[in-house]
Parts: sequence; C-alpha cells; structure tokens
Amino acid sequence: MKNILLLFICILPFIQSCMKGEKVDLVIHNAKIHTMNDGSEIFEAIAIKNGEIIEVGAERQILNKYDAEKYIDAESKDIYPGFTDAHGHIMSYARQKLSVNLVGCKSYDEMLVRIEKYQSKYNRKFIIGRGWDQSKWGDEMPTNERLNKLFPNIPVCLFRIDGHALLANDYLIKKSDVINKFREDAELNQGGYVITSVYTPLDIHSHLPITTLTPTGVFVDNAMNPILDILPDFPEAELKVAILEVQDELLGYGVTGVHEAGLKHFEVELIEEMIEDRSLVLDIYGMLLPTEKNIAFAKENGIYQKENLTIRSFKVYGDGALGSRGAFLKNVYSDKHDHHGYLTTSLSRMKEIAKLCEKSGYQMNTHAIGDSTNRVMLGIYQRMFSVVPDHRWRIEHAQIVDPLDFKLFAEAGVFPSVQPTHATSDQAWAESRIGVDRLEGAYAYNTLLEQFGMIAIGTDFPVEYTDPFLTIYAAVQRKNSKGEPGLGYLPSEKITVEQCIKGMTIWAAFAAFQEDELGSIEKGKNATLIILERPIINSSEFQYNYSTTTIINGEIVYSED
Ligand SMILES: [Zn+2]
Repeated sequence: MKNILLLFICILPFIQSCMKGEKVDLVIHNAKIHTMNDGSEIFEAIAIKNGEIIEVGAERQILNKYDAEKYIDAESKDIYPGFTDAHGHIMSYARQKLSVNLVGCKSYDEMLVRIEKYQSKYNRKFIIGRGWDQSKWGDEMPTNERLNKLFPNIPVCLFRIDGHALLANDYLIKKSDVINKFREDAELNQGGYVITSVYTPLDIHSHLPITTLTPTGVFVDNAMNPILDILPDFPEAELKVAILEVQDELLGYGVTGVHEAGLKHFEVELIEEMIEDRSLVLDIYGMLLPTEKNIAFAKENGIYQKENLTIRSFKVYGDGALGSRGAFLKNVYSDKHDHHGYLTTSLSRMKEIAKLCEKSGYQMNTHAIGDSTNRVMLGIYQRMFSVVPDHRWRIEHAQIVDPLDFKLFAEAGVFPSVQPTHATSDQAWAESRIGVDRLEGAYAYNTLLEQFGMIAIGTDFPVEYTDPFLTIYAAVQRKNSKGEPGLGYLPSEKITVEQCIKGMTIWAAFAAFQEDELGSIEKGKNATLIILERPIINSSEFQYNYSTTTIINGEIVYSED
C-alpha cells in the first residue's frame, strides 16, 4: 500500500501535466479583459498561440486547460483590443519630427526663435517648419517680412498646424514661381487662395487681385501646390528613424494600428521596406492619394495586402480646413461675408475617382469639413449605395453638416470617420467662422453615430496629439486637456466611453473591412491587445493613462520596463 501511494505521488505531476494538455505560447491571466464583442463580455484570462487568440475565459478555465510557454500576471489590470487610430498621418508626423517644431508657438517671435535654434543645429539648405496656429496669437495670419530679413538667401516653408496653409519667405515664393503659376492655373485658383498685403481676418482675397497687391507669404490649399512641387523630402534614412519614433509613441499609448490618411506611391514602398525588415509592426491601413502612380497601382493590384499593410482605399481632399477658411460652406463665412470656401478637388474629378473605386473594389474616403462638401459627397456616395449597399465609403471629419443632411449618412450607408479632439481644439473660434446656428450640425458625433450605427474614431495626428485618452476625454466630456469648457463643448453630442472605445477598436476594424481579424478579443482573431496602467473611467477631469504592455499578433512589441 505504501509503495502504491509513493508511486502515485511520483506520477501525480506527470498526470497533471498530461491533463493540462494544450500547449500555447502565452497565457495572460488575473486581468479584466474587455472583449468589445457584441455582448461586451468581460473575462479574466486569455490563451494565445501563433499570434492568434485560442480562447478567452475565466481564470481557472484558462489556467487549467493550457500549458503556456510564457505567463503574464496582469495584476487585475484592464485589457482592451489594441487601439486603432482611424485617421492619422504617420508620414507627416515623421516629417514634423525632422522639421522645426512650431506646435504651441504663442507668438511670431517664438516661431523665429525656434527656427533660428533649429537652423543653427541642423544647417539645412531648405528650412521646413510645421505646426503654427494663428489662433494662438489672436487669429491674425502671419506675414513673411521678418522671415525675409532673417533668411534672405535660403527657402523657408512653414506649414500651419492643419497642413492646409503655409507661410513662405520671398526667396521661396520667387524660386517656386508660385504667383505666376497660381495666376495661370484655374484649378489652383478655384481650390485655394493667396493672402495679400491688405489682408485682415475679414478681408481674404479668394480670387486674384494679386497683380496689384503684394503676397504676404501665406498660401492656402491648392495655392500651396507650386511650392509643394519643389519641396525637398528628408533623406530616407532620417525618415525611417522618425517613423520608428512615431511608432514607439503610438505603441506606448496602446495604439497598434493606423488608418494612414493619404499616401504617395513612394511612401507605400518605404512602408513595405520597413515591414520587410520587421521594424514597422503597426497595422497600417493605407489610403492612397489619387496620383497617377497610385491609380496605376490600384488598377494593377486591386485589393492589396502585404503582412501588416492593407491597401484598398483612396483618400480624396474634398475641401480645405475651417481654421484657414478653406472649408466649403453652403452659405458664406460668418467672419468673411464674400467667401464660401471651395472644393479642392473638382466635382468631375471626384466622380472619376468614385468610378475608379467602384471598379477596383476600393473604398472612397473623402476629407469633408464644410456642410457643402459633405452634401456633395453624400450625393456621390448615394449612387454607390444602390450598387453595393455595404460599401463602407467614408467621410473623413464630417465636421459641419447641415442638419437636414444627417439622414443621408443612413440612407447612403456612409461611414463617418471623426476626430473628437478637433471639436475641443476648435471651440475657441468655430463660432466666429460659422455663427451659432450652424454649430447645431458641427462636430456632431452622437448624431452621426445614431445615423450610421457606427463611427470610426481617430486623432488626425499630427494636427492633434496622438494620445487616444485625450480623444476619449474629448468625446465623452467634450473638453480639452485643461478641462475646458466646464460643461463640455456642444454637450448634446457627447458619446459614452464604451462607444468611443468601440470607435477605436471594433468599429475602426469595420471601417477598414478588418472585423474578422481585429477590433475585439475573440477566439480566432489576431492576438493584438493592450494592458492599461489604469481603468478608463468617465471622469470630469482628464485621466492620464498609457499601455504597460502592447501586444501585436501575440508578440510583445512594447512594455514599460
Ligand atoms: Zn487628416
């Protein structure tokens, strides 16, 4: 009897290990796993193998069933599917990191100080800066006089924070021949403007009196094109380093995927190289700009997937931005009575691109800020709805919508893609641009959600910060990081924490046709998830947060220690 007992004790661990059975790569347990599935279920543990979710369940259920190579005790922390930024610009942000950083400048003097400091360090042959915002110093557009004095013999190009306007020095204006080109080209002329010497915020010349007036250096929307044509890019090696810096920042916030809103062809190639050498691990849903090369690419490849890069959409610029009065409005601007803004892409060109998308099975994603642009695009998309009801064509921003037009989002099956921090950043001046009545249809994320049933949520970085927790705060509390305004901006458009997180996870996946692989923590999907430092709560004050561990396809790609 004694011997039998001894034998049993000896073989017990063996029996236990046999019972444990299934080998997996990773088990994370002692967690609060927000699955974001249809039932919004919450579990304690998850088993992962070959980058895939094998099972999610109760603590003992998973620990008893699986034998993992590695265990992570999540210490009761919250786990979510990795966040997707459904509208961001990795390439622009990377370039911003290599340019003079003008974000947050409170005066022209501060801009000049930063430029001089940058130039003494880098000694560039062509100075590029990004991020100024005239609303930080009283809404008066800058002029280039002092810039000309400081830099008479070298081109200087300073982009506004939204990328829809730039300030050029005279050297660059001459070198690019922008004035003559603008004067001669009707298309540039219709989709942009040049600010001239008699400019005041109430006196923008949308058409050309510049034969007699001196340009101040500010060029808006299509008027920037002749300058952009000669703008040099940063060396590829520098760009790659900057892209990885952007990636690190995103992973630290738990952002594991970006819908990259506008790629040139060589940028697609650059991303592919970085995916091949395994340095770029973010899931990239790339929207192509409708250039000749990209159109040829779409025709040749159709829907394109290479590891973590997916291409099946075009990004079109319908109009400009509200801050620089390039948004196309049905009625005139409240602070510029002879100005409606403009379409930056002609109607006929939009229709051509829509046809191309329809033919190649691509999604059309159009930047639309003004109520007129939104109406025009909803009309174009309506046609697609009759051909493919589940087309998921998107309107990016959907910022100012005529209340009469909201129903068209439902009727034409149009996916709204919105950026809640735009509402809280624009609160100081939006009313002066469009007046109080039109605010009824502005930044109306809850109304848009009610129409389509989903919204995709992003930040539009680098126009806004990459931090997704600022987005949640802006969407739920309708306040900026300083907690303003106290009751929230246009508070009837608040959405819930859960709705906002869905917008950054499962709905973002739907907006990219990726709902079978991404967006929720469910059996069979990619093991892409994040462990957060603290719970996400609906607090009236902004709660700082970050990811302690970011996992993409089962691999730990970021960890705080
Ligand atoms: Zn954007």
